[in-house]
Amino acid sequence: MTLAHPSPSPAVSADAAQPSPRLLLVEDNPADFRLIELHLREHPSTHAAELLVVRSLAAAQRALASPESAVDLVLLDLSLPDSEGLETLEAIRAAGPRVPVVVLSGRADEGLALEAVRRGAQDYLVKGHVGADSLARAIRYAIERNRIEVELAAQRKTVEHMSRLSALGEMAATFAHELNQPLSAILLSAEEARSLVDRFCGMEAAKLREPLAVVSTQARRAAEIIRRIRGFAARSQSGPTLIDVGQLIQDSCGLMQPELAHRRVRLAVDAPVGLASVQGDPLQLRQVLVNLLMNALEAMERTPAAQREVAVSAKAMPTGVAVAVRDHGHGVTPENLAGMMEPFFTTKREGLGLGLSISRSIIESHSGRLSAEANSDGVGMTFRFVLPRTRRGAS
Ligand code: ADP
Repeated sequence: MTLAHPSPSPAVSADAAQPSPRLLLVEDNPADFRLIELHLREHPSTHAAELLVVRSLAAAQRALASPESAVDLVLLDLSLPDSEGLETLEAIRAAGPRVPVVVLSGRADEGLALEAVRRGAQDYLVKGHVGADSLARAIRYAIERNRIEVELAAQRKTVEHMSRLSALGEMAATFAHELNQPLSAILLSAEEARSLVDRFCGMEAAKLREPLAVVSTQARRAAEIIRRIRGFAARSQSGPTLIDVGQLIQDSCGLMQPELAHRRVRLAVDAPVGLASVQGDPLQLRQVLVNLLMNALEAMERTPAAQREVAVSAKAMPTGVAVAVRDHGHGVTPENLAGMMEPFFTTKREGLGLGLSISRSIIESHSGRLSAEANSDGVGMTFRFVLPRTRRGAS
């Protein structure tokens, strides 16, 4: 492993806000290595880059595993002494899944380039056709694209986590509600039995009083636990704020980008920022949109790629704003349409059947209404929710 130190001259960065990247160059050919180093030193945005050079896949894997090396990007030759072709790329992606990779190949092969990008490379450059400018641009774009992908994945995780928390909150609230009534009945009956014992049982009363007191105390304790669970479920919701519906839709669709790309689904959004505002919990409403979008994608798993499209739109009405999510999926039978928003209704092998019931309760807690209908052209369905609109000037 060679560590080529940055040039001693001060960095003249094209963008002063961007720190110099730390690059791992995986290249076994010394002539290619020198040429790439020359290109890097030539360009203002990469001339101060720290360059860590290794000559084999095994050495690259060690470098990616070592916390000290903390590289921002891998420049990867696919043909190495211990690995060849796309296998090299896959091994590097496995060793550093969060590190962007730019392939530097000797082969101008469009098919190979496409396959490399499909398997996670940020770019594919052909040696001999790459100059200082194109190399520097590829490095900067790859690092930036990767940063955005990592951020989106983290946001998506937060929404999923919130979704699970909310599902737990919903279940806790349901259990609390269901258990409260039998518990109150137990408590009341125990109190009544105690007063009857006092009146009718005379000397034997003392023996019964103690177990009945235990019933009352334990029932009160259980009621207190349930009260606390309900309090927790209520606290898991943050307070209401003024939300721009167009922005909310754009943010939610942004979270879905990796999933849309992965499933090759086109997204058409007609929801301008500034169209209308509503009062509510942005995290919860974002969760509703993510639930509806995720369902739409799952419903289109068998839709031919050319028709895989989701349309999200927002329309301002005099008193409210209507949001629609329309898909070209397998649609719904009339029987399922009636029950699909009930808790635990699912037709998916791995489904929980809570997404729509949670979405409906979120929309209803915002004084809105969630509805579903089969599309009139017979393909797919549309979910619609209407929320009361906040008037201009209202907070
Ligand atoms: P889950 O996704 O875990 O099944 P949901 O409550 O989100 O739970 O959905 C319940 C059911 O409603 C799904 O299993 C599916 O049968 C149906 N469904 C939801 N969205 C769609 C859609 N866009 N197209 C067709 N069916 C849908």
